[in-house]
Amino acid sequence: MMETTTNQTTKVEAKPSIYSLQLEELKNWLKDHEEKAFRAEQIYDWLYKKRVSLFEDMSNLPKSLRDKLEHNFAITTLKTIIQQTSKDGTIKFLFELHDGYSIETVLMRHDYGNSVCVTTQVGCRIGCTFCASTLGGLKRHLDSGEIVAQVVKCQQALDETDERVSSVVIMGIGEPFDNYDNMLGFLKTINHEQGLNIGARHITVSTSGIVPKIYQFADENTQINFAISLHAPNTELRSRLMPINRAYSLPELMKSVRYYINKTGRRVSFEYGLFGGVNDQAEHAEELAKLLKGIKCHVNLIPVNYVPERDYVRTPRDQIFEFEKILKNHGVNVTIRREHGHDIDAACGQLRAKERQEETR
Ligand code: SAH
Repeated sequence: MMETTTNQTTKVEAKPSIYSLQLEELKNWLKDHEEKAFRAEQIYDWLYKKRVSLFEDMSNLPKSLRDKLEHNFAITTLKTIIQQTSKDGTIKFLFELHDGYSIETVLMRHDYGNSVCVTTQVGCRIGCTFCASTLGGLKRHLDSGEIVAQVVKCQQALDETDERVSSVVIMGIGEPFDNYDNMLGFLKTINHEQGLNIGARHITVSTSGIVPKIYQFADENTQINFAISLHAPNTELRSRLMPINRAYSLPELMKSVRYYINKTGRRVSFEYGLFGGVNDQAEHAEELAKLLKGIKCHVNLIPVNYVPERDYVRTPRDQIFEFEKILKNHGVNVTIRREHGHDIDAACGQLRAKERQEETR
């Protein structure tokens, strides 16, 4: 009980992160506070191009404005608790939020660039039977500033070696379409020319299949890459693996995906985790090929990552290649997901929201 009270007090006192404001919103805020709108661009420049951590460093702003900003906002609200580097260069960050919860963010180093995998919620309420992120349920949504801050933190780490975050995937903890507005605000800020300026085609959002939001996302008409966690070639099996399928069945999901493709003209990605003995047989590959026939898509096969609380086992290598071959023979675009940061538990589905208060209890 006492902890809950402390929590609420902190929440009330915490200043919002300025990263939560879109450029237009910042302009409006300035106007409402008797400041010139053009200051918003200067502030954006300090936040996203120069990436300062203190308002007082924004040296072309009048002192009175810097004080006003300081009084009303925080820059980042994330505190780095752990920064762990894997043998393959992947860096996993554990950040503490203003209310004591913590989240994970992963920075992957590829030969073609640096990719950040962001978290959108503290925990998750989707309940996929193979995933670690959902084990403790949903604690709360992240606001858009908390999602933006994860990318800025990674960019600041890369600034030391003069490198750039070249792509972003919304594939960390949480279901982005369950926190739709904040996710969209985040996308706008990182994509904005005067923000982090990460091209839409270098951003990927993945959903477990919240169908009404897929229609809404299609209507946003963005160029952002879209991925769907499919994991099963028929609705019965999908319901066993992912309870979301009982709310939005596979046929409904596929209908929304077709709508998305027609509306945007873009192809989609399907993530298909291979769970040993469950969905990885030749007949599943055949059924999957049939399901995807005529759909402009790409399939990403993900060998299951071990989660101690879940008893799924890996598909033998040869069988993974066999599965891939069947899809290829049917003309399906398919790749096998390369794994990153295995030694630091940074791989798909292995992230878990760590609730520090509970840990120290
Ligand atoms: N909630 C969104 C974003 C998460 S993306 C979604 O479901 O799409 C993370 C991807 O890893 C998803 O495709 C998820 O289904 C998959 N995943 C989760 N647990 C996994 C595990 N143990 N092994 C392999 N993939 C897993």
